Amino acid sequence: MMKCKKCGERASIKMTQHNMALCQEHFLDWLPQHTQRTIEKFRMFTPDDKVLVAVSGGKDSLALWDVLLGLGYRTDGIYIDLGITDPQSGLPYSAKSKKYSLQFAEQHNLNLHIVDMKQEYGETITEINHRVRHGRQKPCSICGLVKRHILNEVTREGGYPVLVTGHNLDDEAATLFGNTLTWTVDLLQRQAPLLPAMSGFARKAKPFCKLYERETAAYALMRNIAYVYEECPFAGGARTIQHKKLLNQLEKRSPGTKMQFYGNFLKAREELFAVERQPILPEEHCPVCGQPTHSGQLCAFCRLVGKM
Ligand code: SF4
Ligand code: ZN
Repeated sequence: MMKCKKCGERASIKMTQHNMALCQEHFLDWLPQHTQRTIEKFRMFTPDDKVLVAVSGGKDSLALWDVLLGLGYRTDGIYIDLGITDPQSGLPYSAKSKKYSLQFAEQHNLNLHIVDMKQEYGETITEINHRVRHGRQKPCSICGLVKRHILNEVTREGGYPVLVTGHNLDDEAATLFGNTLTWTVDLLQRQAPLLPAMSGFARKAKPFCKLYERETAAYALMRNIAYVYEECPFAGGARTIQHKKLLNQLEKRSPGTKMQFYGNFLKAREELFAVERQPILPEEHCPVCGQPTHSGQLCAFCRLVGKM
Protein backbone atom coordinates (compact mmCIF):
# COMPACT_ATOMS: atom_id res chain seq x y z
CA MET A 1 0.00 0.00 0.00
CA MET A 2 1.21 3.42 -0.92
CA LYS A 3 1.36 5.67 2.12
CA CYS A 4 0.81 9.39 2.56
CA LYS A 5 4.09 11.19 3.15
CA LYS A 6 2.49 13.39 5.80
CA CYS A 7 0.38 11.01 7.90
CA GLY A 8 1.22 7.47 6.81
CA GLU A 9 -2.41 6.72 5.94
CA ARG A 10 -3.37 5.20 2.63
CA ALA A 11 -2.33 7.56 -0.19
CA SER A 12 -4.86 8.74 -2.77
CA ILE A 13 -2.40 10.16 -5.26
CA LYS A 14 1.15 9.30 -6.16
CA MET A 15 3.23 12.11 -7.62
CA THR A 16 6.36 10.44 -8.89
CA GLN A 17 7.76 13.73 -10.19
CA HIS A 18 7.70 15.12 -6.64
CA ASN A 19 8.74 11.78 -5.19
CA MET A 20 5.70 11.90 -2.97
CA ALA A 21 2.33 10.29 -2.34
CA LEU A 22 -0.47 11.94 -0.36
CA CYS A 23 -3.82 11.03 1.12
CA GLN A 24 -6.84 13.06 0.08
CA GLU A 25 -6.75 15.34 3.11
CA HIS A 26 -3.09 16.21 2.69
CA PHE A 27 -3.30 16.54 -1.07
CA LEU A 28 -6.11 19.07 -0.59
CA ASP A 29 -3.74 21.01 1.70
CA TRP A 30 -0.74 20.62 -0.55
CA LEU A 31 -2.20 21.82 -3.85
CA PRO A 32 -3.40 25.25 -2.62
CA GLN A 33 -0.10 25.77 -0.77
CA HIS A 34 1.79 24.92 -3.94
CA THR A 35 -0.37 27.41 -5.86
CA GLN A 36 0.22 30.08 -3.21
CA ARG A 37 3.98 29.62 -3.56
CA THR A 38 3.70 30.10 -7.33
CA ILE A 39 1.58 33.26 -6.83
CA GLU A 40 4.20 34.67 -4.47
CA LYS A 41 7.23 33.56 -6.42
CA PHE A 42 6.12 35.35 -9.56
CA ARG A 43 4.47 38.21 -7.64
CA MET A 44 1.23 37.61 -9.49
CA PHE A 45 -1.13 39.44 -7.14
CA THR A 46 -1.79 40.08 -3.44
CA PRO A 47 -4.86 39.70 -1.21
CA ASP A 48 -5.59 43.38 -1.85
CA ASP A 49 -6.17 42.77 -5.54
CA LYS A 50 -9.53 41.82 -6.96
CA VAL A 51 -8.68 38.99 -9.32
CA LEU A 52 -10.64 38.19 -12.49
CA VAL A 53 -10.74 34.44 -13.22
CA ALA A 54 -11.24 33.34 -16.83
CA VAL A 55 -13.70 30.45 -16.48
CA SER A 56 -14.36 27.90 -19.21
CA GLY A 57 -16.47 25.43 -17.24
CA GLY A 58 -13.61 22.91 -17.40
CA LYS A 59 -11.77 21.36 -14.49
CA ASP A 60 -8.73 23.64 -14.48
CA SER A 61 -10.45 27.01 -14.39
CA LEU A 62 -13.04 25.90 -11.83
CA ALA A 63 -10.39 24.23 -9.68
CA LEU A 64 -8.36 27.43 -9.85
CA TRP A 65 -11.34 29.53 -8.81
CA ASP A 66 -11.94 27.12 -5.92
CA VAL A 67 -8.31 27.25 -4.80
CA LEU A 68 -8.19 31.05 -4.91
CA LEU A 69 -11.36 31.24 -2.80
CA GLY A 70 -9.87 28.84 -0.28
CA LEU A 71 -6.71 30.93 -0.13
CA GLY A 72 -8.85 33.96 0.70
CA TYR A 73 -8.45 35.96 -2.51
CA ARG A 74 -11.18 38.29 -3.71
CA THR A 75 -12.35 37.09 -7.12
CA ASP A 76 -14.88 37.58 -9.89
CA GLY A 77 -15.26 35.31 -12.91
CA ILE A 78 -15.65 35.85 -16.63
CA TYR A 79 -17.25 33.32 -18.95
CA ILE A 80 -17.42 33.79 -22.72
CA ASP A 81 -20.29 31.99 -24.40
CA LEU A 82 -18.73 31.20 -27.77
CA GLY A 83 -21.83 29.39 -29.01
CA ILE A 84 -19.96 26.20 -29.90
CA THR A 85 -21.94 23.07 -30.74
CA ASP A 86 -20.43 19.79 -31.88
CA PRO A 87 -21.07 19.66 -35.66
CA GLN A 88 -21.13 15.85 -35.54
CA SER A 89 -22.94 14.90 -32.36
CA GLY A 90 -24.88 18.12 -31.86
CA LEU A 91 -23.59 18.36 -28.28
CA PRO A 92 -24.15 21.95 -27.13
CA TYR A 93 -20.62 22.34 -25.75
CA SER A 94 -20.82 26.03 -24.86
CA ALA A 95 -24.26 25.74 -23.26
CA LYS A 96 -23.00 22.90 -21.12
CA SER A 97 -19.82 24.61 -20.01
CA LYS A 98 -21.79 27.76 -19.23
CA LYS A 99 -24.13 25.74 -17.02
CA TYR A 100 -21.22 24.46 -14.90
CA SER A 101 -19.63 27.90 -14.67
CA LEU A 102 -22.89 29.46 -13.50
CA GLN A 103 -23.51 26.63 -11.10
CA PHE A 104 -20.12 27.12 -9.45
CA ALA A 105 -20.62 30.89 -9.19
CA GLU A 106 -24.08 30.46 -7.66
CA GLN A 107 -22.95 27.83 -5.18
CA HIS A 108 -20.27 30.13 -3.88
CA ASN A 109 -22.21 33.33 -4.25
CA LEU A 110 -19.72 34.80 -6.71
CA ASN A 111 -20.00 37.37 -9.43
CA LEU A 112 -19.64 35.91 -12.94
CA HIS A 113 -19.53 38.19 -15.98
CA ILE A 114 -20.97 36.52 -19.04
CA VAL A 115 -20.22 37.70 -22.54
CA ASP A 116 -22.51 36.08 -25.09
CA MET A 117 -21.01 36.18 -28.60
CA LYS A 118 -24.37 35.86 -30.31
CA GLN A 119 -26.03 38.58 -28.26
CA GLU A 120 -23.07 40.91 -28.21
CA TYR A 121 -21.76 40.53 -31.76
CA GLY A 122 -24.59 38.80 -33.62
CA GLU A 123 -22.67 35.62 -34.47
CA THR A 124 -21.29 32.57 -32.69
CA ILE A 125 -17.74 31.33 -33.26
CA THR A 126 -19.07 28.56 -35.48
CA GLU A 127 -20.97 31.10 -37.59
CA ILE A 128 -18.00 33.44 -37.92
CA ASN A 129 -15.89 30.48 -38.98
CA HIS A 130 -18.41 29.60 -41.67
CA ARG A 131 -18.57 33.16 -42.94
CA VAL A 132 -14.82 33.73 -42.95
CA ARG A 133 -13.54 30.28 -43.89
CA HIS A 134 -16.62 28.50 -45.11
CA GLY A 135 -16.20 26.12 -42.17
CA ARG A 136 -13.36 24.32 -43.90
CA GLN A 137 -10.86 24.90 -41.12
CA LYS A 138 -11.13 24.66 -37.37
CA PRO A 139 -12.23 27.89 -35.72
CA CYS A 140 -9.37 27.86 -33.18
CA SER A 141 -7.37 30.84 -34.43
CA ILE A 142 -10.53 32.95 -34.70
CA CYS A 143 -11.67 31.70 -31.32
CA GLY A 144 -8.31 32.51 -29.74
CA LEU A 145 -8.38 36.04 -31.13
CA VAL A 146 -11.93 36.60 -29.88
CA LYS A 147 -11.17 35.24 -26.41
CA ARG A 148 -8.00 37.31 -26.00
CA HIS A 149 -9.81 40.44 -27.08
CA ILE A 150 -12.86 40.00 -24.85
CA LEU A 151 -10.85 38.94 -21.80
CA ASN A 152 -8.59 41.94 -22.18
CA GLU A 153 -11.55 44.26 -22.57
CA VAL A 154 -13.48 42.97 -19.56
CA THR A 155 -10.38 43.00 -17.37
CA ARG A 156 -9.49 46.56 -18.25
CA GLU A 157 -12.98 48.00 -18.27
CA GLY A 158 -13.81 46.32 -14.98
CA GLY A 159 -10.68 47.84 -13.46
CA TYR A 160 -9.28 44.44 -12.45
CA PRO A 161 -5.56 44.56 -11.71
CA VAL A 162 -5.04 41.03 -13.03
CA LEU A 163 -6.63 38.30 -15.15
CA VAL A 164 -5.88 34.70 -14.22
CA THR A 165 -6.27 31.60 -16.37
CA GLY A 166 -6.25 27.91 -15.46
CA HIS A 167 -3.34 26.89 -17.70
CA ASN A 168 -1.52 23.97 -16.07
CA LEU A 169 1.98 22.59 -16.52
CA ASP A 170 0.87 20.19 -19.27
CA ASP A 171 -0.59 23.12 -21.23
CA GLU A 172 2.51 25.24 -20.74
CA ALA A 173 4.93 22.43 -21.59
CA ALA A 174 2.97 21.61 -24.77
CA THR A 175 2.89 25.26 -25.84
CA LEU A 176 6.58 25.55 -25.11
CA PHE A 177 7.27 22.42 -27.13
CA GLY A 178 5.37 23.88 -30.09
CA ASN A 179 7.09 27.25 -29.86
CA THR A 180 10.48 25.57 -29.60
CA LEU A 181 9.91 23.36 -32.62
CA THR A 182 9.38 26.50 -34.67
CA TRP A 183 11.67 28.75 -32.58
CA THR A 184 9.06 31.45 -32.46
CA VAL A 185 11.07 33.90 -30.38
CA ASP A 186 8.28 36.39 -29.76
CA LEU A 187 6.00 33.71 -28.38
CA LEU A 188 8.82 32.25 -26.29
CA GLN A 189 9.48 35.66 -24.82
CA ARG A 190 5.83 36.13 -23.99
CA GLN A 191 5.36 32.66 -22.49
CA ALA A 192 5.60 33.47 -18.81
CA PRO A 193 3.71 32.70 -15.59
CA LEU A 194 3.11 36.43 -15.29
CA LEU A 195 2.79 39.01 -18.01
CA PRO A 196 2.82 42.55 -16.64
CA ALA A 197 0.32 45.03 -18.02
CA MET A 198 1.70 46.94 -20.96
CA SER A 199 0.55 49.17 -23.77
CA GLY A 200 -3.11 48.34 -23.49
CA PHE A 201 -2.76 44.72 -22.47
CA ALA A 202 -4.02 43.66 -19.06
CA ARG A 203 -1.77 41.90 -16.55
CA LYS A 204 -2.13 38.13 -16.90
CA ALA A 205 -1.15 35.32 -14.56
CA LYS A 206 -1.20 31.52 -14.56
CA PRO A 207 -1.17 30.33 -10.93
CA PHE A 208 -1.46 26.63 -11.96
CA CYS A 209 1.49 26.71 -14.37
CA LYS A 210 3.57 24.44 -12.15
CA LEU A 211 0.89 21.84 -11.48
CA TYR A 212 0.44 18.72 -13.57
CA GLU A 213 -2.91 18.24 -15.24
CA ARG A 214 -3.48 15.04 -13.29
CA GLU A 215 -3.02 17.04 -10.08
CA THR A 216 -5.57 19.71 -11.00
CA ALA A 217 -7.92 16.95 -12.20
CA ALA A 218 -7.49 15.06 -8.91
CA TYR A 219 -8.19 18.27 -7.00
CA ALA A 220 -11.42 18.91 -8.94
CA LEU A 221 -12.50 15.33 -8.33
CA MET A 222 -11.70 15.30 -4.62
CA ARG A 223 -13.42 18.64 -4.14
CA ASN A 224 -16.50 17.37 -5.99
CA ILE A 225 -16.38 20.23 -8.46
CA ALA A 226 -18.90 19.68 -11.25
CA TYR A 227 -17.35 20.57 -14.60
CA VAL A 228 -17.79 19.83 -18.29
CA TYR A 229 -15.98 16.55 -19.05
CA GLU A 230 -16.12 16.82 -22.79
CA GLU A 231 -13.45 18.76 -24.59
CA CYS A 232 -14.38 21.38 -27.13
CA PRO A 233 -15.38 19.45 -30.30
CA PHE A 234 -12.66 21.32 -32.18
CA ALA A 235 -9.91 20.46 -29.73
CA GLY A 236 -9.23 16.96 -31.08
CA GLY A 237 -6.23 16.68 -33.37
CA ALA A 238 -5.07 20.16 -32.46
CA ARG A 239 -1.31 20.39 -32.47
CA THR A 240 -1.11 21.04 -28.74
CA ILE A 241 -2.88 17.75 -28.07
CA GLN A 242 -0.33 15.88 -30.18
CA HIS A 243 2.46 17.58 -28.27
CA LYS A 244 0.80 16.68 -24.97
CA LYS A 245 0.77 13.03 -26.00
CA LEU A 246 4.43 13.09 -26.91
CA LEU A 247 5.36 14.74 -23.65
CA ASN A 248 3.28 12.20 -21.72
CA GLN A 249 5.29 9.41 -23.34
CA LEU A 250 8.51 11.05 -22.24
CA GLU A 251 7.10 11.67 -18.79
CA LYS A 252 6.15 8.03 -18.44
CA ARG A 253 9.70 6.95 -19.16
CA SER A 254 11.30 9.55 -16.94
CA PRO A 255 8.97 11.19 -14.44
CA GLY A 256 9.58 14.89 -14.02
CA THR A 257 10.40 15.54 -17.68
CA LYS A 258 7.61 18.04 -18.19
CA MET A 259 8.42 19.84 -14.95
CA GLN A 260 12.07 20.06 -15.93
CA PHE A 261 11.39 21.13 -19.50
CA TYR A 262 9.16 24.00 -18.40
CA GLY A 263 10.99 24.90 -15.18
CA ASN A 264 14.38 25.07 -16.86
CA PHE A 265 12.90 27.10 -19.68
CA LEU A 266 11.74 29.69 -17.15
CA LYS A 267 15.28 29.94 -15.79
CA ALA A 268 16.84 30.07 -19.25
CA ARG A 269 14.24 32.60 -20.31
CA GLU A 270 15.49 35.09 -17.73
CA GLU A 271 18.97 34.91 -19.19
CA LEU A 272 17.93 34.74 -22.80
CA PHE A 273 15.80 37.81 -22.55
CA ALA A 274 17.80 39.60 -19.87
CA VAL A 275 19.33 42.05 -22.31
CA GLU A 276 16.05 43.87 -22.57
CA ARG A 277 15.07 42.59 -25.91
CA GLN A 278 12.07 44.78 -26.49
CA PRO A 279 8.98 42.76 -27.24
CA ILE A 280 7.23 43.90 -30.37
CA LEU A 281 4.24 45.72 -28.98
CA PRO A 282 1.60 47.58 -30.88
CA GLU A 283 1.86 51.29 -30.29
CA GLU A 284 -1.38 52.40 -31.78
CA HIS A 285 -4.96 51.94 -30.75
CA CYS A 286 -7.97 50.68 -32.64
CA PRO A 287 -10.31 53.60 -33.41
CA VAL A 288 -13.35 51.46 -32.61
CA CYS A 289 -12.54 49.52 -29.45
CA GLY A 290 -9.39 51.31 -28.27
CA GLN A 291 -7.41 48.10 -27.87
CA PRO A 292 -3.80 47.93 -29.06
CA THR A 293 -3.19 47.36 -32.76
CA HIS A 294 -0.14 47.53 -35.00
CA SER A 295 -1.68 49.17 -37.96
CA GLY A 296 -3.41 52.23 -36.54
CA GLN A 297 -6.45 50.89 -38.32
CA LEU A 298 -9.17 48.59 -37.03
CA CYS A 299 -7.76 45.80 -34.87
CA ALA A 300 -8.10 42.20 -36.03
CA PHE A 301 -11.07 41.65 -33.72
CA CYS A 302 -13.01 44.66 -34.98
CA ARG A 303 -12.26 43.69 -38.55
CA LEU A 304 -13.61 40.22 -37.82
CA VAL A 305 -16.82 41.27 -36.11
CA GLY A 306 -17.29 44.45 -38.14
CA LYS A 307 -18.64 42.38 -40.99
CA MET A 308 -21.42 40.98 -38.88
FE1 SF4 B 1 -11.93 27.66 -29.27
FE2 SF4 B 1 -10.49 25.82 -30.61
FE3 SF4 B 1 -10.34 25.97 -27.93
FE4 SF4 B 1 -12.55 25.08 -29.10
S1 SF4 B 1 -10.52 24.11 -29.17
S2 SF4 B 1 -12.45 26.55 -27.41
S3 SF4 B 1 -12.62 26.34 -30.93
S4 SF4 B 1 -9.68 27.54 -29.40
ZN1 ZN C 1 -10.71 47.00 -32.18
